Parts: sequence; structure tokens; C-alpha cells
Amino acid sequence: QQKQTKVAKMDDAKLIGVTADKDKDFSGWYQQILVKGEMLDYYDVSGCYILRPGSYSIWEQIQSWFDKKIKENGVHNAYFPMFVSSKVLTKEKDHIEGFAPEVAWVTRAGSSELEEPIAIRPTSETVMYPYYSKWIRSHRDLPFKLNQWNSVVRWEFKHPQPFLRTREFLWQEGHTAHLTAEEAETQVIHILDLYEKIFVDLLALPVIKGKKTEKEKFAGGYYTTTCEGYIPTTGRGIQCATSHNLGQNFSKMFNISVENPEGSDKPKLFVHQTSWGLSTRVIGVMVMVHSDNKGLVVPPRVAQFQTVIIPVGLTVKTSKDIKNKVYDTCKKLEATLKNSGIRVASDYKDNYSPGWKFSQWELKGVPVRLEVGPKDIANGSALAVRRDTGTKTAIKLAEIAVKLPELFEEIHKNLYETAKRNFDDHRVIVHDWKDFVHQLNQKNIVLAPWCGVGECEEDIKKASAKSDNGEEFEIDDKAPSMGAKSLCIPFDQPELKEGTKCVKCGKPAVNYTILTRTQ
Ligand code: AMP
Ligand code: ZN
Repeated sequence: QQKQTKVAKMDDAKLIGVTADKDKDFSGWYQQILVKGEMLDYYDVSGCYILRPGSYSIWEQIQSWFDKKIKENGVHNAYFPMFVSSKVLTKEKDHIEGFAPEVAWVTRAGSSELEEPIAIRPTSETVMYPYYSKWIRSHRDLPFKLNQWNSVVRWEFKHPQPFLRTREFLWQEGHTAHLTAEEAETQVIHILDLYEKIFVDLLALPVIKGKKTEKEKFAGGYYTTTCEGYIPTTGRGIQCATSHNLGQNFSKMFNISVENPEGSDKPKLFVHQTSWGLSTRVIGVMVMVHSDNKGLVVPPRVAQFQTVIIPVGLTVKTSKDIKNKVYDTCKKLEATLKNSGIRVASDYKDNYSPGWKFSQWELKGVPVRLEVGPKDIANGSALAVRRDTGTKTAIKLAEIAVKLPELFEEIHKNLYETAKRNFDDHRVIVHDWKDFVHQLNQKNIVLAPWCGVGECEEDIKKASAKSDNGEEFEIDDKAPSMGAKSLCIPFDQPELKEGTKCVKCGKPAVNYTILTRTQ
């Protein structure tokens, strides 16, 4: 009797587990798994969230992988202040026009008003480039490549969403300067390819690479390349990371120039620049794509804990000897796995039943649970249970440090392939406008021939903000926009046959563009 009141059981776990259904109440579900799975918590400033170790550790995995790669590419880390004067921020006209509505300003210190308000960086082009102008003196200083791991503030007013759209977010921003346009181009694509690797190889997320339209490109840039993702449950697209070619726009504004290597009588050369950023948004995309009604599902390569050891099969009747043996085996196993570089957790709390613990660790998304009980020990094995499929396999204790990494690879592959299949199955080519909205409503991402004209893009957005029965959705420029916008012009293009017309306006099409509602 006493035991029953003390030990929390499986049923209790169900009560504290996820109660919202992913398909029926997506945003309720998303909130619940993040908070109950201990990834994130809400904060009393709207649009700001706390990243708990469950998510911050994922960020650290991404960080350590990418940091190494960019250093191999000759990039050095630096840190610039978060404050920027109004004079400098507004120097590049298109740039500030794009960012102005979201810039947060400090206007007061203590009780005194500042003489001039100071902005908090929404991105650091204008913060850094006056110093690029000062530091880059000769073509021998090129290429010049800096990156910073920092946070930026964009005071978005519409629908904040944990990770995806937050007012302060963590990211890296890289800024490079090159002598030639070709070198800048190569840099942009090199970084975009690294971003793709983060999605595919670390987060098990399929993405489509492409170029943004003029309307959607980075404010003040020359062109923007992007990795775009897909959320199957909502059928919406999401921008995952961007790599911009800034051309010579900023270098002319900020006078970043070098003497001409061909001779001092030749005109000075303005450098060609790139900037590129990947934010904590990607953690939200990862969660939305892989997780389920039991909670988080975290791909093994980025998971805080790749496996958790849970002792099982112990009852009040179990002898002390056997109990000790189970705990000893668990602890030895834990040490072995740690030694071989596996990120391992264990749960030896004796006031919770194994079933309760299973639910808890499933909620947190740990890729593999290892159950160790008297029967397993008798067989010289542990029972491995996969989070993604629920599949159970007995693994010999002696082989576990080798077999487990293999299992992680299988899990990664399964998560990626499932997500890829979903993405591929929901991408349709549409030539007739009459099919367009219907296809969006089927949670599809539409690839359509397009004329490349900005006004047409606007028209598409307005005209697609309707359901099948013609009912208007709310149009909102920033967040869950129900009208379709262009995600990107994919690099991988279907053949554009002669005479192909724009899906909306009927003018000659210049390419196939991905048009979709965005998350
Ligand atoms: P941008 O400088 O606008 O190209 O943004 C760089 C990256 O930051 C984008 O690819 C987005 O994924 C991400 N990002 C932009 N705005 C936000 C936001 N409010 N919250 C989180 N991530 C964001
Ligand atoms: Zn058109």
C-alpha cells in the first residue's frame, strides 16, 4: 500500500505528458512538447524565451561543427558591440528601410533620457563595416573573413513562435570581403553548402537550396541564397538559413576599398562582400518535423543525451544482491559508453516506476533508451528501445559501445528519409492558376513558372489568401501568412519549355519558383 502511494506510475506520467495532438492542435502541441520536454520556457517579455540545456546543447553541437568548418575556410571569430548609433545604422538606405520597423531603441539610462537614442543591432553589417573600412587597407588584406556568435534583436510584432520567430535570437553572422566578384560568389555558395550539411547531416532535415526573389532578398544586398525547409503537419515552408552576396553596395557606402593591384594609377577597388546567418530557428524546425504525440524526437547527432540507461524489473521482492548487480551493471555500462564518447544519461531515481521514467525520457526525445534488468543481465545484454520507431532490440553488453553508434546512424537515416519523403511527396508543379490554391490547401509546396515581376508576386499572395471555398484568410505580412509567398527560385530547376507562361499573370515565365504559405 505504502509503495503504491510513493512510486509515481505510468498513468501519472500520462497526465503530465503531452495532451495536445500534433495533427489537431499543432501550436498547442508545439508549446507543450517544448515546455514539458524541458527544451524551452516562456518568459515574461513577449517574444522572448529561455533556452534550457535540452535545446542549448543542440545549439552547441551546431556551433562546434560549423565553427570548425568556417575556421577551415579562413574565418576568424570576433565580437562587436550590440549597440549601434542611429547615424551608422541608417547609412545604407535600402538596408535600414528593410529593418527599421523591427529595430529596438534604447532611449533612457536610469531616469535620464539619452541625447540620442541608440539602436540594438538587428544584424551587424552597419556595426562592423566602418571597421572593415579602417582595417582593410591593401588587397593583401583580402579575403577578410570574420564571424560572430551573438544574439540580435528584431522587434517582430506578429505571432512570436518559440525558436522560429523570436524578438531576441541567437545566431552566427559571418561577414567577408573579397577582391573579386567571383570570390564573393564562391564564398556565398560555400557557406550555403555548409548550412545544407547542418540540416541534412546534423538535424536530419531535407532542405531546398535556391535564390530569393528581389522582393524577399536581404535588404541592401545584391542577392540572397537560402536553404528552405518544409513543415509537413502544416504544409508550410520555412526559411532555414541565408547566405547573402552583398556585392559592392555596402563597400561603396562604407568606403571599404583597396588600391588596385594592377597599379596605383588605376582606380581604387571596392571590395565584394558576403554576409550569412543561421539562427536558433533551426531547432524549432527540427522539433516541428520530427517530434510526435509522445513528445520531442531529437536526432542523435545533436541530442544532449543520445541514450539513457534505466534499471528495470526490480520489485519489492527482488533480493538485495540482484538489485546491486543491476545497479552495478548500469553504472559500468554508463562509464563504458561515456568513455567511447557517447552522450549518456541514467535514471536511478527509486521513487519513480520504470514506466514513468520511459515516458519522461520519451518526452525529452532521447534517441535510445537502454533497459537493464535481472533478465537482461542473465542474457548478458541490455534492451535498446528506439525513440523514433519504438523498435526494441537486445544488444550484448560487450558489444554495446560499437552497436549503439550504428543504431544512432540508423535512427538519423530514418528521420531524414521520412522527412525527405514527406517533403518530396508534397511538392507539386502547377501550371494553371485554377489548381494553385487547391494545391496549397492540400499542404503542398507549389513549384510554378513565374514571370519574375514583383507586383505579380504581390498578386499571388493576395489571390492565394483564400480557402478552397473562397473564404478569405487574414493576410499578415510577417507571420503565419495564409497567402503564398515565394520561398525561393530553386537551383534545381525543371526544364522551362519555350512559351511557358507565368502561373498567375500569363506573361512569359523566366523560371520555376517555389510559392507557398510560410510557417
Ligand atoms: P537574415 O539576416 O534576415 O537573412 O536572417 C538570417 C537567418 O536568421 C534567417 O535565415 C532566419 O532563419 C533567421 N531569423 C530571421 N528572423 C528570425 C527571428 N525573428 N527569430 C529567429 N530566427 C530568425
Ligand atoms: Zn506573373
